[in-house]
Amino acid sequence: MKIICVGRNYADHAKELQNDVPTTPVIFMKPKTALLFPEKPLYYPEFTDDLQYECEVVVKICKNGKYIQEKFAHKYYDQVSLGIDFTARDLQREQQKKGLPWEIAKAFDGSAAIGNFVPVTVETQVSNLAFQLKINGETVQDGHTRHMIFSVDNIIAYVSQFFTLHIGDLIYTGTPAGVGKVKPDDHLEGYMQGNKVLDVMIK
Ligand code: MG
Repeated sequence: MKIICVGRNYADHAKELQNDVPTTPVIFMKPKTALLFPEKPLYYPEFTDDLQYECEVVVKICKNGKYIQEKFAHKYYDQVSLGIDFTARDLQREQQKKGLPWEIAKAFDGSAAIGNFVPVTVETQVSNLAFQLKINGETVQDGHTRHMIFSVDNIIAYVSQFFTLHIGDLIYTGTPAGVGKVKPDDHLEGYMQGNKVLDVMIK
């Protein structure tokens, strides 16, 4: 399986990091080894002093496909959850400054935390999902998928031009504003439509 991620998919987040709002989706990938399974802790990596959370809606691909048309894209995912795109922001800034790839800052072991998936239903349509991240009980991100620049269906149509999508692949759809640092002992909890689906401890 592969993990496809979208960067800068909410204008308020692009602006908070002083990035331009993109006109085509910003895509990067994480390997399978980046997955942090539900209820597993993340051990603060020694290579960064600025580990940051980015809470994102994640869809799971349920059908193989290539060159998927946007109007059919909804048939290619049937489960949704929240994930954290953990980012070593200091390394990312250094790489960006040099015009180099991001993988060491965004694709390291445990950098793709994932919650428990729920079926996509009328109540959990991915275009109409409210989601929040709480750290130690305090809400730090409060997003809604209607503010995405590129919709999930648009993203699937775009990425499937380049990459064949396989059953089990995950798509992290970008984070809203409010990203920030984590530290050891922080407790991260993600809520989707008011229901807790994600729980990560930093150790
Ligand atoms: Mg992200």
